[in-house]
Amino acid sequence: MKKEILRLQPVFKQMIWGGERLGSEWHYAVPGEHTGECWGICAHEHGDSIVTEGTYRGKALSQLWKEEPELFGNVDSDRFPLLIKIIDAKADLSIQVHPNDAYAKVHENGSLGKTECWYILDAPEDGSLVIGHNAQTKDELEDMIKNGRWNDFIQEVPVKKGDFIQIEPGTVHAIKGGILLLETQQNSDITYRVYDYDRLSNGKPRELHVEKSLDVITVPARPLSDCIVSVGEIVKNQLHLLMDCNCYKVWKLEVDRICQFNQIWPFLNMSIISGEGKINGFSVKKGDHFIIPYKFGDVVIEGTLEAIVSTV
Ligand code: ZN
Repeated sequence: MKKEILRLQPVFKQMIWGGERLGSEWHYAVPGEHTGECWGICAHEHGDSIVTEGTYRGKALSQLWKEEPELFGNVDSDRFPLLIKIIDAKADLSIQVHPNDAYAKVHENGSLGKTECWYILDAPEDGSLVIGHNAQTKDELEDMIKNGRWNDFIQEVPVKKGDFIQIEPGTVHAIKGGILLLETQQNSDITYRVYDYDRLSNGKPRELHVEKSLDVITVPARPLSDCIVSVGEIVKNQLHLLMDCNCYKVWKLEVDRICQFNQIWPFLNMSIISGEGKINGFSVKKGDHFIIPYKFGDVVIEGTLEAIVSTV
């Protein structure tokens, strides 16, 4: 087995709420207007990263996961467990909630549930997100949703660049317009739409999933202090842990000139969010997504850059 960094080709998704920044600011070859999502590291039926160079050039991440499990530390999972996206929300996303693994397995054909977290790459002055809700009981929840009491229901929270948010299954959430973020999530796209601001897509409202939402929404909502993670002061040139939960570990890394650490995890996903440099001689820049495989050994990064890093 070759201990090569796996550079991956992003997959883009056009969305009614998507903007232009993935093309204009991130210099991706986007497919057109309203490109809302860049799937940087993915092995899903709706998007599968292709390795762009080296021994595994042309292979899909889902295929490598099956054929070369030792690249990923032989993790016991029938699919690559994570999905990394950059999201450019020009308009508000629908208010939504995700099921946990147990619910998704029964109600969504064996799919994984979805725990996700967000690193805020950019936010306007008055930027905000919807996190949680104000219903105190299941009856109140049902009344608010079925009678459209959205102003009473929705809890909106101000956010700024550099904030980090953990969204457990059952947490009502929505990205608001103007926010650009990097999402690390379980490899699933099971989403229950609670409310879509009465918008039309191709002349029709998008489907809502009210009954499933009522099944899975946590009542009362988790305290905000569980969702908004204090990032703290980041020490440069070492991995700074943002989240360690049973689905993933996520770090922020700020490199100034040189940084070195040992790759002791099954695999490391890396997305460069600013700057440029070299990793063991391999050139990287803002917008690059790649995987450092199992037993890679010493990772030596030279340059000035910031990255979001994750593993299971
Ligand atoms: Zn979500």
